[in-house]
Amino acid sequence: MVAQGSAGPTWKNGPGGDVAALIPMVRRIVAARVSDAATADDLVQETLTRVLAAAARVEPGMLEPYAIVTARNVVANLWREQDRHRRNQHRIIDVRLADSADEELLADEERSAVARALGRLSQRERETLLAHEVAGQDTRSLAGELGSTAGAVAAQLNRTRARMRVEYLLARDGIEPPTARCRPVLLALSGGDRRRQREVDAARHLLECDICARLSEPLMERGTPRDDEVCIPIRCDGDIVAARQAARELAARVGFSRTDLTLIATAVSEVSRNVVRFADTGEVVVELLEHPRKGVRVVARDSGPGIPDVEKALMDGFSTYNGLGLGLPGARRLMDEFAIVSEIGRGTTVTMTKWCGER
Ligand SMILES: [Zn+2]
Repeated sequence: MVAQGSAGPTWKNGPGGDVAALIPMVRRIVAARVSDAATADDLVQETLTRVLAAAARVEPGMLEPYAIVTARNVVANLWREQDRHRRNQHRIIDVRLADSADEELLADEERSAVARALGRLSQRERETLLAHEVAGQDTRSLAGELGSTAGAVAAQLNRTRARMRVEYLLARDGIEPPTARCRPVLLALSGGDRRRQREVDAARHLLECDICARLSEPLMERGTPRDDEVCIPIRCDGDIVAARQAARELAARVGFSRTDLTLIATAVSEVSRNVVRFADTGEVVVELLEHPRKGVRVVARDSGPGIPDVEKALMDGFSTYNGLGLGLPGARRLMDEFAIVSEIGRGTTVTMTKWCGER
C-alpha cells in the first residue's frame, strides 16, 4: 500500500474509533492472565498500539479477532521474555548458528513446508492453483477446461489460497491442530470470511485455543505494506477520483501506454462508482503483476446487497443508474480479464486484469 495508509484516504471514523471500542475486551483478556495492575496496563497499551498500527492492513470487520490474538500474543511474549532472561543469566557461550547456515536451513524448511501444504490440497485445487499462480493461466481459460465460470474459478482460487496459508503455517511449525474446531476457525480467518467466522464462533475459539491464537495473527494481516499495491477505501464520489488516480499512477510505472492508462483509469472509475451506488462500503485494490508478464490487477470489493443476476448486469446497455457511465459491461470491455463473484446479502467482488503490451 503506497502512501495511502494513514496519510491517504481515511476510514469513516478513522481506525482509532474502531480500536477504542475494543479497549474493554482487551483489558479483560490481559487482566485474566496478568495479575500485576501496572504490567497489565502496559500490556493493554502495547496491544492497542499494535492493533492501531495494523488497523489499515486488517479488514475492518476483522479488528476484533485481531485484537484478541494480539493481546494474547503480547502477554505470551512477556512470559517468553521473562523465561529467556532467566535462562540467559546462566548462559556463557553463544550457540547461534552462523548466519548463512541459518538462512539455508530456513530456505529448506520453507520449501518443505510449501510442499507439505500443497500436499494437503485436493488434486484439483492444487492443479488449478499452480496453473494460475505458476503457469499464469487466466481464470477464463481455466473455467473453460473445468467446465465452470471465470467467477466460480476466481472464488475457488481464493478459497484455495486461504487453505494454503493455513496449511503452510501448520506445516512450517510442525503443528497438528489440537481440536476439531481449529482448522475451520483458521480457514474462516484466513479467507476473511466474516459470516463463516460467526458460524464457527472464531472469537471464542481464539480466546480458548493457544495454538490458533498464535497462528492466526499472520492470517489476518494482509502482509507487510507493498509498494506495488494500493488499497483505496470507497465510500463517496471523492474516493472514485482517488481510486482512478492511484490506479493510473501505479500502472504508469510498468510502462502502459497513455491510451491503456486511460482505459484502466476509466474501468477503475466504473467499478468504484458501482460500489458507491449499490453498497455502503467497499474498497478498490490495485496491484502490479510481474507474471506471466507485466500487468495490473484491480479488485473492487463491497459488502453491499449483491447483484441478483450477474449475467444481466453484464449485458450491454443494462444500467441500473439511468444510463450514467459505462457500468460493469463497459469496464469489462476495457480490460483483458474480468470476473464477478456476487452473493445476495453479502456483497460483490469484481476482479479485472489488464496486461501490458500485446494481448
Ligand atoms: Zn484451535
